[in-house]
Amino acid sequence: MDDLSFDVVVVGCGIAGLSAAVTAQQNGARVAILERAPKDERGGNTRYTESLWRMKTVDAVSEDFLDKFAANAGGWPDPGIVQDAVLDRDFQPRVLRSLGVVDPQVVAAIADDAPKAIAWLATFGIRFDEIPMYFLSQSTTRMGPIGGGLALVEALGGYADSRPDEIHFFYETAARSLIMDETGRVAGIEALGDGNVPLRIMGANVVLACGGFQGNPEMLSHYCGPQSQFIRPVSRGGHYNRGEGVRMALSAGAAPCGDFGSFHAQPVDPRSTDIEPVVLNYNLGVLINDSGKRFTDEGPAMVDATYEVVTRLIMGERHGIAYAVFDASLDEVQNWTVTVRSRVPPLQGATLKDLAVEIGVDDQELIRTIDAYNAACPTSDGFDPLTLDGLSTTGVDPRKSNWARPIVTPPFRAWPIICSNCFTFGGIKIDEHARVVNTEGDIIPGLYAAGEVAGLYYRVYTGATSVMRGAVTGRMAGADAACRRNSFP
Ligand SMILES: Cc1cc2nc3c(=O)[nH]c(=O)nc-3n(C[C@H](O)[C@H](O)[C@H](O)COP(=O)(O)OP(=O)(O)OC[C@H]3O[C@@H](n4cnc5c(N)ncnc54)[C@H](O)[C@@H]3O)c2cc1C
Repeated sequence: MDDLSFDVVVVGCGIAGLSAAVTAQQNGARVAILERAPKDERGGNTRYTESLWRMKTVDAVSEDFLDKFAANAGGWPDPGIVQDAVLDRDFQPRVLRSLGVVDPQVVAAIADDAPKAIAWLATFGIRFDEIPMYFLSQSTTRMGPIGGGLALVEALGGYADSRPDEIHFFYETAARSLIMDETGRVAGIEALGDGNVPLRIMGANVVLACGGFQGNPEMLSHYCGPQSQFIRPVSRGGHYNRGEGVRMALSAGAAPCGDFGSFHAQPVDPRSTDIEPVVLNYNLGVLINDSGKRFTDEGPAMVDATYEVVTRLIMGERHGIAYAVFDASLDEVQNWTVTVRSRVPPLQGATLKDLAVEIGVDDQELIRTIDAYNAACPTSDGFDPLTLDGLSTTGVDPRKSNWARPIVTPPFRAWPIICSNCFTFGGIKIDEHARVVNTEGDIIPGLYAAGEVAGLYYRVYTGATSVMRGAVTGRMAGADAACRRNSFP
């Protein structure tokens, strides 16, 4: 049993788990990492992301960082309760400490630590810079590590690999439940190893860093509703994240945080095998459903700020699918190809009737829809795909608020789009040390949640903050767990 006793047990080896494990080791702890995937697929979502961080420079988060989080901190929380958030945590009422809203102290800690995390990652050879994106223009500032999330996994994972006496990996081992002692403190993890072999890995500090539940159809259906049958993880890594971290913590009494009924939605081509095969040009054409009808404003604001809302509407359509329809004028838009990451060619027709056949929608309905849209387009010039050009339709429902140009010139093209699930929002309430808060507002001794397990988002995802959340909360958890390891033998 001694072989399976550690100071800190980390579940998951994406950015959150690796940051926690390496930080704990650097602070003197002996660490175990449990990872469901085989070694050559370790890293979950982190392995596949470009890992953009909402930064202005490597020393500061974006100008809009705190405002965006404040705007999306919860539903309509009771102001009589949240007003006490200005008090020191120890003086806050329990009802607030366990409330399912985003804690401003946690957001401030993430903003404060993000530059320090970047400086720490630099010690492993990671360099941040501006990275080419799939948006023609953006509403905020973003930077990323050269080499993306894979570079993060390789750098931190490589460091851990080279210290086998201090950091021990258990691959193809899935954590199932927490072991708690009689005092209410965490004592370890029960897991399932290769071949359905049960395993008990002991440790008085456990960091749950095993992602959301985007890889778990049962939880998705339960929390996000029946239309979630039409969504899928945006990359292979998401299939490994099946919600055990969230479940384990809730079973131990943790307070929930983050919007359990929602997730970060991205519009992708369902035919593609590419990683993150986004289709983000739809604002330049129209979106139709599989009845051949428009169902939303395709251009309410800049795409990077609105695609999540539009994509969720696609999920809500009858079969969770829509088609972005264009004419030849798409080619007049410089660089539009950067906005489509699917390498599968679009469906094409010399006439709208031909295109309807390719899509599989009623041709008369499609023609009626496009005719009505064309008649509502403005005749004025001023089309500008890089700004909100104000070219809006009149007299058609739904309206298109920007970039409205008639669809008249063959060939006609369409990309199918479904809603993919980057990661789920429902998670666990933590404090600014990534310690798990229980439903009574108390800390669960020895239990930490980091990365996607730590609930941070309601309504709309504050883009380019999830890898940052993982690195920062992982570092917080690793440091706190390592320094407390002797206080709770
Ligand atoms: C294609 C793509 C693009 C993205 N772009 C961005 C971006 O630009 N900026 C941004 O901020 N975010 C982005 N994201 C989201 C971001 O990458 C993730 O939310 C973040 O990396 C999650 O880190 P994590 O450590 O919490 O989880 P993960 O990186 O998913 O790691 C979780 C790990 O836990 C393991 N695991 C799961 N369950 C268990 C279990 N029971 N037992 C043991 N191990 C388990 C998994 O195998 C995995 O290795 C993107 C995601 C994808 C897929």
